[in-house]
Amino acid sequence: VPVGILMWRQPPKHKEWKGPGTTAHFYEILLGRCYTYTQVVRPELRHTDCQKIGKAFTSAFLSKDPCGSTEQDYRPLMELTTQIVPCDKTVFWSKSSELAHDYTRVQRDMYTLEDTLLGYMADGLKWCGDTSSSEMNYQSCPHWREDCSNNSVSVFWNTVSKRFAEDACGVVHVVLNGSISNTFDEKSTFGRVEVFNLHPEKVHTLKAWVMHNIESVPSDSCSSSSVNNLKQILKTRNIIFICQNNYRPVRLLQCVKNPEHSSCKYNL
Ligand code: NAD
Repeated sequence: VPVGILMWRQPPKHKEWKGPGTTAHFYEILLGRCYTYTQVVRPELRHTDCQKIGKAFTSAFLSKDPCGSTEQDYRPLMELTTQIVPCDKTVFWSKSSELAHDYTRVQRDMYTLEDTLLGYMADGLKWCGDTSSSEMNYQSCPHWREDCSNNSVSVFWNTVSKRFAEDACGVVHVVLNGSISNTFDEKSTFGRVEVFNLHPEKVHTLKAWVMHNIESVPSDSCSSSSVNNLKQILKTRNIIFICQNNYRPVRLLQCVKNPEHSSCKYNL
């Protein structure tokens, strides 16, 4: 056999993208999280069919163009995973993932999207498929800014975030990051999807908790222009807006990690 043929490089099995590939052991993690959630975290959901949910999840993106993902792709998955969050218990967040989840981990009757089954299963994972193969692409996946915005991961989060907001009722909450300039970011999922999918017939009030990093200088973020923008949007949507800087129960959690800081010692 001529040497040249032996050295011929195999063409890549999948298209090459700019973002990291599917998380290793994606399917096992997904299924494991489904069982942990339904058997341990919320045992009232113990009759959930995790195998069926796992299959519906992967069917939404396998053998498909990872830049052509649609809400419809995820519809069968969404239909298998309806979950009721009680009124007044929804917590949104933007640029404050860790703090918001620290809070709901302690305040167990409050729910972020990641405290519901689908959010819990998918949080922190990456996934994509390919038209030319029925396998996941572990090499690379589309980067949402550099490749395409309608990629399988972004469309999933847009779809589940939309439903999470549509289902909310009563008073809803949002943890915002007051230590960055765009505390309310119109381009974020919260600003783009969640705010506009709240139903004013069901959601009468949105309470924003603007939290400052403990090390940063205190500033009055409820009156900042980006938060004022949120206030105006809610006004046109007939939803009452209430804003609190450094909401105390969340501040106390920040203080657990930084007990010696002056704002924890003296300002409580
Ligand atoms: P954020 O800006 O802090 O983003 C949250 C995460 O989503 C980050 O990892 C960010 O890199 C990623 N992200 C944001 N927009 C994206 C996009 N278009 N494509 C791919 N990744 C994107 O906060 P946010 O955007 O306001 O999203 C948080 C809110 O939306 C929460 O209320 C939550 O309900 C929901 N959400 C959760 C996740 C998650 O990873 N658990 C992702 C998106 C949205």
